Amino acid sequence: MAAETEARRLAAGPAPALADGAGAPAALRSVLADIVARLAPELLSLSHDLHAHPEVGHEEHHAMAAVAGLLRAHGIEPELGVFGMETALRASIGPVAPAGISDGAASAMGGTASSHPGTIAILAEYDALPGIGHACGHNVMCANSVGAFLALAALEAERPGSLPGAVVLTTTPAEECSTAKEALAQAGMLNGIDAAIQTHSYAADVTHQTWLGQRRMRVTYHGIPAHASSQPFMGRNALDAATLALTGIGLLRQQILPMDRIHAVVTHGGDAANIIPERAELNAFIRSKDLTTLRDLVARVEDVFRGAALMTGTGVEITPDPHPNEMPVRDNAALLASWVRAQRERGREPLPAGVLPETIAAGTDFGNVSQRVPGIHPLIKITTGGDVALHTPAMAEAAGSPTGDAACLDGAYGLASVALDWLHDAEVREAARADFEATGGAVDVASFWDE
Ligand SMILES: [Zn+2]
Ligand SMILES: [Zn+2]
Repeated sequence: MAAETEARRLAAGPAPALADGAGAPAALRSVLADIVARLAPELLSLSHDLHAHPEVGHEEHHAMAAVAGLLRAHGIEPELGVFGMETALRASIGPVAPAGISDGAASAMGGTASSHPGTIAILAEYDALPGIGHACGHNVMCANSVGAFLALAALEAERPGSLPGAVVLTTTPAEECSTAKEALAQAGMLNGIDAAIQTHSYAADVTHQTWLGQRRMRVTYHGIPAHASSQPFMGRNALDAATLALTGIGLLRQQILPMDRIHAVVTHGGDAANIIPERAELNAFIRSKDLTTLRDLVARVEDVFRGAALMTGTGVEITPDPHPNEMPVRDNAALLASWVRAQRERGREPLPAGVLPETIAAGTDFGNVSQRVPGIHPLIKITTGGDVALHTPAMAEAAGSPTGDAACLDGAYGLASVALDWLHDAEVREAARADFEATGGAVDVASFWDE
């Protein structure tokens, strides 16, 4: 797999970057780089603090206090417990957009309606994993996002007028254990937001990697209990239905796309071997890389569940999660080009999309953001080697190491540069919007599964 990846890297060539002269003025980005260097001790201390105090989803009280304290030290008062989530924080800088004028609306009117470019959101994750701490490197990502936000605030303070539009920082809890960004979006996190950006820690620098959409469901089979020896013919076996469902999924796997995933476990299979099981329960995750293939795959798996019930004479209840789960992450060529230019300035060479194998894909709730507004979720290398997987002790170690520290600063500069390029260059904004519309436009994620 490594050899094939290397061959694809050579064939792909460098990732496209924003041209010199486009985006924010080079002089302004140079001041930005100086500011990030000045902020370095505080950003590394934030990353190390989170790393030393890992908190699982919805319990990020220490992390939120650390971010809030750092913002206040720079004269920015955040709102805490926003969008109905106790550990979500929001802060904003720059001139607020006039009501009703988003960038899309302004450019549709030829840019004459408002000189305000719109509002860009920088999202920050800070939850950890149970047992192994920051094995997903969210401490580094938090330093990236908070660092970018503070750097832009300092730039505006030093050179008033540097931010023609607004920049919002929102911390988004519980990426690991729930689809929190879906709940935050439904509660209004993206209202008035024209683009959203964040990084993710990784073992390589990558512009865009496949992130699968996901649908989670509980499946309950209802049978008829009977004495398993004296009257088995009177029973209808719910565990048989669950067994056939697993077998059906196993056989279905040969006829699905290679990067799609179906996983299921039996969470209840009966109470005693001498009773024909009355109830059996499965938990199933179904993942695919496109919205259309995800919808299709979910329907096919549901047919398998129903078929198993038919074969066994049992009843079946399929109960999906009430909120949509992770959606596939959509990339954005214009915003990624800005990211690549900034990373190159830091001596990094992000791999273009399609170089890493798609079959190593997982999921993230940033997908739910990227289907609503133009967004990017580039990967930043925090390890020394390229063979360290997320969610392992080795990745947790890297997240607190010197290579993790370097990523804290390079990512902070990268996100701040993307925001600055977007705010300063109408062509960047229009290209970002056009790419978003060409890849499907805004999806009504909240009612995606109701259709
Ligand atoms: Zn993770
Ligand atoms: Zn993660």
